[in-house]
Amino acid sequence: MLRIAVQSKGRLYDETMELLKAAGIKLVAVKRTLLVPSRNFPVELLFLRDDDIPDSVATGTADIGIVGLNEVLEKHQEVNVLRHLGFSKCRLSLAIPKETSYTGLEWFNGKKIATSYPKILSDFLKEKHIDADIHVISGSVEIAPGIGLSDAIFDIVSSGGTLVSNNLKEVEVVLPSEAVLIGSDRELDDDKRNALNELLFRIEAVKTAETKKYVLMNVPKSKLQAVLAILPGIKSPTVLPLADDNWCSVHSVIDEKNLWTSINALKAVGAEGILVLNIEEMVL
Ligand code: ATP
Ligand code: MG
Repeated sequence: MLRIAVQSKGRLYDETMELLKAAGIKLVAVKRTLLVPSRNFPVELLFLRDDDIPDSVATGTADIGIVGLNEVLEKHQEVNVLRHLGFSKCRLSLAIPKETSYTGLEWFNGKKIATSYPKILSDFLKEKHIDADIHVISGSVEIAPGIGLSDAIFDIVSSGGTLVSNNLKEVEVVLPSEAVLIGSDRELDDDKRNALNELLFRIEAVKTAETKKYVLMNVPKSKLQAVLAILPGIKSPTVLPLADDNWCSVHSVIDEKNLWTSINALKAVGAEGILVLNIEEMVL
């Protein structure tokens, strides 16, 4: 059985569980246990703190894991990123007090920077030839400058709200991060390898579908060419007859990012009764 390390609670938990559910993986209903098998797929979930996930995969306690790229790089375990998952997006950034004028990276020379990510920060500073003092703290990093513990911080930023409420400003983005699926170079037996391949295949289908919508609409036959010109579709749109001979029904898949532009264009050329549906999986 393929063992997947996932965060037991926290920011990654909900979307990890949603992804696995969308991939058709149902869990045996057991509460508050560390190891939970699936009832319809040869996998079991190992629930851990996110800090421990890279290590669990590197040592073989788990076969694969789902964790933030920031934790993977900080722990520098021997693991491979198998796939970016597109959720829990954030960034690791340098931030300084709001009223301080920032002159560029050299500003950090001789300064004290508080962080929970000393490895990523020291790699970055070394690469940029900046000589700063790294002060490691495990939580509430953003309050460090305010209480005189450091001159700057290096921490996770998403909306930036925490920085603002602590009178800080983001001055350098060092690492964009998101949840990733990790594995190791360790050999997997046939059953595990098959389960992993099937899981990767299903994640691909779920992720492809996430950015697409299925649209269908009624179109007067006289306007069909104009409608088809707006709808490229995956191959070509489906055109079906309707009871009224002068009309037809057109079905297509479109990119979510073009959704409203396409809908307005379709309406303008005469499409009616436009329905937009979510797609759960899409196999190309
Ligand atoms: P644990 O108790 O498992 O150690 P934690 O408190 O260390 O959890 P969380 O706050 O749950 O960690 O964050 C987990 C991961 O989610 C982070 O490592 C990061 O990749 C991502 N993350 C953190 N903050 C945000 C945010 N504000 N928005 C989006 N993603 C975030
Ligand atoms: Mg943690």
